[in-house]
Amino acid sequence: MRKPVIAGNWKLYKTTPEALELVNGLKPLVVNNSRVEIVVAPVFTVLASVKQAIAGSPVSLAAQNCYWEEEGAFTGEVSPKMLVDAGCTHVIIGHSERRQYFGETDATVNKKIKASLNAGLTVLFCIGETLAEREAEQTLDVLKTQLCGGLEGLSGEQLAKVVIAYEPVWAIGTGKTATNDQAQDAHSFIRGVVGGLYGTAVSDAMRILYGGSVKPDNIKGLMAQPDIDGALVGGASLNAESFAAIVNHQA
Ligand code: PEP
Repeated sequence: MRKPVIAGNWKLYKTTPEALELVNGLKPLVVNNSRVEIVVAPVFTVLASVKQAIAGSPVSLAAQNCYWEEEGAFTGEVSPKMLVDAGCTHVIIGHSERRQYFGETDATVNKKIKASLNAGLTVLFCIGETLAEREAEQTLDVLKTQLCGGLEGLSGEQLAKVVIAYEPVWAIGTGKTATNDQAQDAHSFIRGVVGGLYGTAVSDAMRILYGGSVKPDNIKGLMAQPDIDGALVGGASLNAESFAAIVNHQA
């Protein structure tokens, strides 16, 4: 049985008072939900404050990115060890905005995943095709390349702490959600690729989240698909009520 994960990616939003208002509003709305692994991913500067605020609640803390070195002369970077120190249990790696605006490649994503797992973090590993790639019918090739590149050199055991997030780039922040069938097809393909690489025991246990304009009114249909195990939520996670409605969708 795969425990669903609903993760909120706060992107570059929320100062400390705003982040505390959001998380303090969220806590009472999800306090009784033990069915779902609930994760929020604020900016680095508010991690420690949010960690204090979520103490004793079912909400876990993620960062949105990290560097692969533990420490050193790497100005401006933050290491997985430092994320653990700030209270994170999870980290998002390879988000399409990082790939698009900050030059992340499958190779750098792979280094970040390995470093994060070595530090004990659970990785939310993002993959997904652009609109041009979908229109050129390259979706499955892109997903396979990103998967194989990101997971290269990892053992089946390590995959227990990897959660894959399928996020079609054309659906992120656009209000365009993949249809339930489009999402299910991609998820089933991803599970098949993981099964081919690691065997079905690993792929059956792998949580695969959908991301791309998930809202309270579309979560139920997505979650009814057999290979969709949760959601990575951007815009709708910036409001306590809408994020809680997504978390509590079947409760
Ligand atoms: C995201 O940031 O990963 C995301 C899916 O954003 P949105 O829900 O706003 O499309």
